[in-house]
Amino acid sequence: DGDKIKLSDLDYYSRKSFPPCMKSLFTVLRNKHHLKHYGRLQLGLFIKGLGLTMEEAYTFWKQEFCKNMDNDKFEKQYGYNIRHNFGKEGKKQDYKPWNCQKILQQTTPGPDEYHGCPFKTFSEEPLRQMLSSYGLKPDDMKVVIDKRRENLHQVACLRLYELSHPNGVSDNVGNHPNAFFNSSVQYIK
Ligand code: SF4
Repeated sequence: DGDKIKLSDLDYYSRKSFPPCMKSLFTVLRNKHHLKHYGRLQLGLFIKGLGLTMEEAYTFWKQEFCKNMDNDKFEKQYGYNIRHNFGKEGKKQDYKPWNCQKILQQTTPGPDEYHGCPFKTFSEEPLRQMLSSYGLKPDDMKVVIDKRRENLHQVACLRLYELSHPNGVSDNVGNHPNAFFNSSVQYIK
């Protein structure tokens, strides 16, 4: 199917079509070649929701993690978990990508942890940097930051989407990271 997201396209899509929660994890993974458990879970299930096969997901994680470890160690420590997310191990449950509510309920990230929703977990300066990476101008940024100050994290995310995708259709954006992605990809097409 010609519309299928390819692994090699992820960097391109991550810039504007990944919501902040996933862009943050993706960037850390690319820079540090590692993510801790909850970050792997949050990003891994999102990636799964993009329609990647288990083999592609395995390759995705392996490419990064194996910059710092050998293949055997990767397979032993992480292979099981990747297959588990796809329902191929353990209870064989087909895990669904997390929605915003679930992400917002996660415990506060500790040292070297990057899971959760940046509208809640980031302080204002890093959040501004994140917003400017979507091309938001200062006035637009203020609209989003104001929502975050009211603790309306999901509304802030919807505003970010609207301001970075003018006249775009938003389908469930602010409720689910995969909705942000799908709406954005439809917009770009
Ligand atoms: Fe991610 Fe949802 Fe937070 Fe947006 S509101 S950054 S999609 S968790």
